Amino acid sequence: MSEFGSNPSNGHRTGGQNGRAGDRIRGGSPVSQSPDDTPESTGQKVAPSDSSDSVAANTSTFDPLDVELMRAALIEAERAFELGEVPIGCVIHHVPTGQRFVGHNLRETDRDPSAHAEIVAMRSAARALGSWRLVDCILAVTLEPCPMCAGAIVNARIPHVIYGTRDPKAGAVDSLYQLLTDERLNHRCRVVEGVEVEACRSLLRTFFQRQRALGKK
Ligand code: ZN
Repeated sequence: MSEFGSNPSNGHRTGGQNGRAGDRIRGGSPVSQSPDDTPESTGQKVAPSDSSDSVAANTSTFDPLDVELMRAALIEAERAFELGEVPIGCVIHHVPTGQRFVGHNLRETDRDPSAHAEIVAMRSAARALGSWRLVDCILAVTLEPCPMCAGAIVNARIPHVIYGTRDPKAGAVDSLYQLLTDERLNHRCRVVEGVEVEACRSLLRTFFQRQRALGKK
C-alpha cells in the first residue's frame, strides 16, 4: 500500500510529523527521492495523471481528505470563473482545529498581480491564525503553483501541498521549477499532484474556450 493508502483513516496528518519533507506523490503513488526509501508496491493500478479516463482511479487512490480539500478548492475556482477570473481556487486546512480558509484568483477584480488564489488564502489563514507560519496546514490548489505562490508557500512553511493539474507555462512545483522540494531551500513540502485532475483541467479549458469565443485572450 502507499503511504496514504495504508492509512486512509489518518486524514488529519500534519505532514510535518507523519510526512517526510520532500516526498512526492503522483497519481496517488508515492515517488521517493531518496534511494533507501523505495516505495512499496501498492498492488493497485494507478492511472497516470494525464490520462483522460483517470478520474475514478485517481480519486480512489488519494487520501480522502486530499480529495475533499480539492473539491472545496474547485468550488472556489468556480467562484473565480463566475467573476471572469481565470478559474483557480485554493483551500487551506488547519489540521489542529479543522478551520478552513479559502481563496480564489482575484487578479482582475482587485487589479493586483499578487492576488493569486494561494496568496489570497494564505493571507486569510495567517490573519485568522495569528501567524505567518502555517506549519499545521495543508494547502490544496486546483492548478500547480507559480513561482510567486510556491515561494510564499515555502516562506509560510506549509508542510503539505496538494494540487490538481500541472501548469506547463508557469508551474514551479514540477513543470518549470521544483521550488517545493528544492534541497537548497530551508523548507520542503510533501506534494501530491493530480487530485481531481480532470475537474481542475476541464474548468480551465472551459474558461479559455469561452474567452476565445468572446474574442478575449
Ligand atoms: Zn501563483
